[in-house]
Amino acid sequence: MMYDFTIVGAGIVGLSTAYKLSLKYPEARILVVEKENKVAAHQTGKNSGVIHSGIYYKPGSYKAKNCVDGRHQLVDFCKKHGVAIEICGKVIVAADESEVPKLKEIYERGLQNEIEGIELIDADRLNELEPYVQGVAAIHVPCSGIVDYAGMCRKLMGLLEEGNGEVRFNSAVSNISNKGDEVVIEAGGDKISTRFLINCAGLYSDHVARFAGIHSPVKIVPFKGEYYELKPEAEYLVNDLIYPLPNPEFPFLGVHFTRMALGGIECGPNAVFAFKREGYKKLSFNLKETTETFNFPGFWKMAKEHWRMGLDEYKRSFSKKAFVKGLQKLIPDVREEHLKVSPAGIRAMALQPNGEILDDFYFEVVDRQIHVLNAPSPAATAGLAIGDEIVKRVEANFTFQQSA
Ligand SMILES: Cc1cc2nc3c(=O)[nH]c(=O)nc-3n(C[C@H](O)[C@H](O)[C@H](O)COP(=O)(O)OP(=O)(O)OC[C@H]3O[C@@H](n4cnc5c(N)ncnc54)[C@H](O)[C@@H]3O)c2cc1C
Repeated sequence: MMYDFTIVGAGIVGLSTAYKLSLKYPEARILVVEKENKVAAHQTGKNSGVIHSGIYYKPGSYKAKNCVDGRHQLVDFCKKHGVAIEICGKVIVAADESEVPKLKEIYERGLQNEIEGIELIDADRLNELEPYVQGVAAIHVPCSGIVDYAGMCRKLMGLLEEGNGEVRFNSAVSNISNKGDEVVIEAGGDKISTRFLINCAGLYSDHVARFAGIHSPVKIVPFKGEYYELKPEAEYLVNDLIYPLPNPEFPFLGVHFTRMALGGIECGPNAVFAFKREGYKKLSFNLKETTETFNFPGFWKMAKEHWRMGLDEYKRSFSKKAFVKGLQKLIPDVREEHLKVSPAGIRAMALQPNGEILDDFYFEVVDRQIHVLNAPSPAATAGLAIGDEIVKRVEANFTFQQSA
């Protein structure tokens, strides 16, 4: 059997891509290969579950465009297909006067990115929206929301399988080669022939690219995000989504309070270097992966630049007290006994050899293959729009003919 398109990875990017290809080419045979036994097993199923508005991102970037477009598509998709979703809005808070200029910059950026309904609000209005938050001013972002991303992935898979699509689990891709006008993929002991391959392997996207002989200068460095959950008796402290001002040097949004679409309120995530790409426990370690990162010059350049912040994050990782201190900057009433540990997620951060973080979504197109080598936050929000980006690249670079 010859597939037309094979997508590696059943996270939101891979499934959205497969779905968009199935809409564009309804006759195409589409296969998604996934090494785990379910969809959304990694970043997509272990994230904050927030629908980002697009307010933070550099105007004109893929992140800005795809986040806004993807958000609109996501809302329509989830409403149409009964996926748990709520547009509850969020606040980004300036804790004191020194933070107000930065808050205004983010607001201006939001206007440039045409984010609907955003408003600069004072402490009184903030207090009406989130009575337990301490802050001197805030941005109210009414179009942000919460969603069940794993549920959305299951729906995407269902729609794919109703057509000519198929998702194959327990199938880890271990080699990729071009043979004439086909690509041969080795996955879970099978050989799969396909006309075109799309790599959406998230935390292992650089490895999968390497299997295909692509040595991109960009390396994935894993950053763990640890969460606590508010115990039910403390849930009154949070109505919806409460964010601090982000540190402009990092692509992370700072530890925040997030109401979840399926219930519960999470606090986090922090951002600590992970010694294993999919190691979610506190002391998870993989020698081969750690050595690989330590042999990458970009890692040490980044570490030299940001070691102080890295140490602070480790402190917060090992000390609940320090974590709570960070949260109290937003909600002074939150206390250690209000929190229980919640599962962590791990972000795929693409680092360049000069130590700079690759900020925007990044795709490499080679003969019959497209590799998504950077799809960090807000890629879950933007998933359906990233699928469109990939369809555009297929149309522009490949001659697609339905296989016999
Ligand atoms: C802690 C955290 C919080 C976040 N919060 C948000 C948020 O609130 N909102 C938002 O929009 N974004 C958020 N993000 C970012 C978002 O979750 C990711 O950008 C997005 O999920 C990336 O999707 P993906 O499909 O590229 O990757 P993944 O979801 O990681 O999927 C990749 C898939 O590829 C599979 N795979 C890997 N290697 C192979 C192989 N060799 N063979 C076969 N399969 C393979 C993996 O098993 C995995 O299922 C967050 C991320 C994290 C980690």
